[in-house]
Amino acid sequence: ETTETVNKAYAQLAELDKKHFMHPTTSFKQQHEQGPKFIFTEGKGIYLKDIRGNTVIDGLSSLWNVNIGHGREELGKAAMEQMKKLAFSSTFATNSHERVIELAEKVANMTPGDLNMTFFTSGGSEANDTAFKTVRYYWQLKGQTQKKKIITRKKSYHGVSMGASSATGLPAFRTFPSLAPDFLYVESSIEALEALIQQEGAETIAAFVSEPVQGSGGVNPPPEGYFKKVRALCDQHDILFIADEVITGFGRTGATFGMEHYDAVPDILVIAKGITSGYAPLGGMVISEKLKNELIDLSDGVYMHGYTYSGHPMCCAVALENLRIIEEENLIENVRKMGAEFQKGFQWLADRHDVIGDTRGIGLLGAVEIMKDPETKTRFDEPVSVKVIEEALKHGLLGRSIIYEGQDTLAFAPPFCINKEEVATIISIIDQSLTTVLKRDC
Ligand code: PLP
Repeated sequence: ETTETVNKAYAQLAELDKKHFMHPTTSFKQQHEQGPKFIFTEGKGIYLKDIRGNTVIDGLSSLWNVNIGHGREELGKAAMEQMKKLAFSSTFATNSHERVIELAEKVANMTPGDLNMTFFTSGGSEANDTAFKTVRYYWQLKGQTQKKKIITRKKSYHGVSMGASSATGLPAFRTFPSLAPDFLYVESSIEALEALIQQEGAETIAAFVSEPVQGSGGVNPPPEGYFKKVRALCDQHDILFIADEVITGFGRTGATFGMEHYDAVPDILVIAKGITSGYAPLGGMVISEKLKNELIDLSDGVYMHGYTYSGHPMCCAVALENLRIIEEENLIENVRKMGAEFQKGFQWLADRHDVIGDTRGIGLLGAVEIMKDPETKTRFDEPVSVKVIEEALKHGLLGRSIIYEGQDTLAFAPPFCINKEEVATIISIIDQSLTTVLKRDC
C-alpha cells in the first residue's frame, strides 16, 4: 500500500472517530480537535502496528494488561472453540458451565492462603464494586449495620464505576458532584491508618482496600513492613482487608500475586486485566474460605448481586488458555529475570540524569520521577514527563506520563514475553528522549 492510500484510510477513520466515538479518560476538546494519533491494526509480542504502518513498543502492555504480549493465536482459538460450543449461558442461581468452574478452581489454586472462591465480573471496576458491596453485606448479616466505611489510600486507583471511583484516592478521578458515600482516604503510613481507625471508630469500618503496588498513582511500592502491619491492624479491629491486584495479579511483579512480596494474605483479592492478558474482558473477586463459610452460615436470602456477564464462557476459556501459557512458558520467571534488567536500566538512567529524583518499581512495573531539583524535590513548572513520552513515541516507544498530585513520572510495564535486547531498547529510548527534551525545553 502506498503512503497516500494509508494516509487516506487513516484520515477517513480519524474523522469518524472524532464524529462518533466517545473515548474513555480523554479530553473532549483534545479529541475533537486532534482526533486519534494512532489507529492500531495489529499486535505481535511487545509490538503494536497502526494503520499508517508505524510500529511501536507497547511499553505499558497497553493498559498494564496485555501481559503475555500481542498476537497469541491460541487465545483466539480457545475463544472460537468455546463460542462454537457454548457462546453464553447464565451463571445465576442454579446454573453453571464447565469453563467457569474450571477457571474458579484454577484461580483458587493460584491465589495464596485460603482465598478459594471467585465471583466473576467483566473488569476491575465491577470487581471492586462487588467487593465493596460484599463487605458491607457481610457486616449487615452479622448485625453490624454501622460497619460500612471503607478506608482507601491516597494516590490509589480502583476504577471508575460509582464505588470504584469513590474508592480512588486520586482526586482527579472524583471530580463528579456526587459519588458513593462512606469512603475515607488515608496517607500511606501505618500511623495514619491507626489514627483514622481511632478517630472513626473500628465499629464503623467495614474494610480497608489497597493495591500492593499503586499503579496509576505513580507506581508506588508500599512503605517497608506496611502490609504486615495492615493485616495485624485489620485483624485487631475486625476490618476486612481487600487487596486490589488488578495490575499486580498473575505475575506482573515477579510473583503470582503482588501481596506475596509483602507477606500479607487479604480476606478478599480483586483481579482483572492479567487474568486474560486483555484478550477478553474479565475480572473477579476472590474470597477466603472463612468469609465464604460465614456467608453460608449467616445468609438466609439471595445475595442480590450479579452481572449478566459474571463468568462469561468465552472469557473464562480465554483466561484458562492465558494462564496455561503463563505457566507453561514460565513467563513469571521471565518477569523476574527481565524485571531485574528493567529495574537496573532505571537505576542506570537515574545515574545519568540529575533530574531523576526517584526510581520505583518491582518486576516489570517501573517508574522514574522527574524533578528540577531532587535535593529540594522541586518540580519543573511544566511537566517534563509529558514531553518525554511524546518524544519517546517518535522513537517507537509507547509509555505513560503520570502527572497527578504534582508528580512528573514516566511509567512503563512491558509484556512478560520481553527479552533482554528489548528491555535495553526501552531504556535507551527513554534516555535519548529525556536528553532531547531537557536540552530543548528545560
Ligand atoms: N484497580 C486497579 C488497581 C486498576 O489499575 C484498574 C485499572 O487500571 C482498575 C481497578 C479498574 O479496572 P477496569 O478498568 O477493568 O474497570
